[in-house]
Amino acid sequence: MSILILGGAGYIGSHAVHQLIDQGEQVVVIDNLETGHRAALHPQANFYEGDIRDIEFLRSVFAKESIEAIIHFAANSLVGESMEKPLKYFDNNVYGTQVLLQAMVEAEVKYIIFSSTAATYGEPQDVPIKETAPTDPTNTYGETKLTMEKMMKWTEKAHGIKYVSLRYFNVAGAKESSEIGEDHRPESHLVPIILQTALGQREFITIFGEDYNTSDGTCVRDYVHVEDLIDAHILAIKYLKSGGDSDVFNLGSNKGFSVREMINTARKTTGKVIPAKIGERRIGDSSTLIASSEKAKRILGWDPKKTSISKIFEDAWNWHSSHPLGYGRKDFS
Ligand code: UDP
Repeated sequence: MSILILGGAGYIGSHAVHQLIDQGEQVVVIDNLETGHRAALHPQANFYEGDIRDIEFLRSVFAKESIEAIIHFAANSLVGESMEKPLKYFDNNVYGTQVLLQAMVEAEVKYIIFSSTAATYGEPQDVPIKETAPTDPTNTYGETKLTMEKMMKWTEKAHGIKYVSLRYFNVAGAKESSEIGEDHRPESHLVPIILQTALGQREFITIFGEDYNTSDGTCVRDYVHVEDLIDAHILAIKYLKSGGDSDVFNLGSNKGFSVREMINTARKTTGKVIPAKIGERRIGDSSTLIASSEKAKRILGWDPKKTSISKIFEDAWNWHSSHPLGYGRKDFS
């Protein structure tokens, strides 16, 4: 039996593929390569290029492979873009998951681990945020992920597909071996932008707003090391297979760091100047997002050992400095 990774050529998905194969699992990958990279694919994974919105394509993969569980990373995930192109997000994220669930029902695949987001909470009333906090997204991306969670809840009631939804806070870092790492085109995430500035590929980083109600006025986020994040997915599969109920878990570090603190840590790790300028707030941003991950630790037995911002920058810097062109293309826009 294999584990099917949807979006296995993307940043987080490729780390899942590598970690599962490192642990001796059989892995099947589906990716439409819209944002993923062929070079991030693991040679031992069975790769099918195609789109999860294409039911005939999904049926053909399920007919060929014996799939025990699915980890679903195949989605668009940029807050800013989701505000400009909301319908693109509903189409790929919500409709894509609807088609996927239909194919799972037909193929009788019983388990799905789903990548959700802290953006489902919106502007939190209390931090750290627990899973019981109200959900009220402030951007389209978060709204689509919340809708996908709801779709899985009702599908389970009718068809018995068990799910674990993992609400990520900010994911960063790279595989310790530096074989794979983060490479979005265009890049919009804080850690790679800071490190591209350290490499001299950008003149400066723009800090999006310094008038938030935080200690230094810049946004506060909770950063998880990508390898710890994937550990939680693997634990979630074991949890469902051993009879656990469908549930939602936050994945974070219980600690928040401001944009300025992140830039200062990167300056220490890299020894580079990393010029920064203050810009406007980015539409859709919450001021502070910090997770309580006690539930994942208690129920899944999650033990994030690599999650500190110094380790995140160390591993991310190893990747960026050894792959200054990422997976190969030259435009850094
Ligand atoms: N950010 C920033 N400058 C950038 C990119 C990001 O100041 O060039 C800030 C952004 O406003 C947010 C934090 O860094 O507060 C993390 O942003 P990212 O896009 O990495 O993740 P998000 O929190 O949107 O999931």
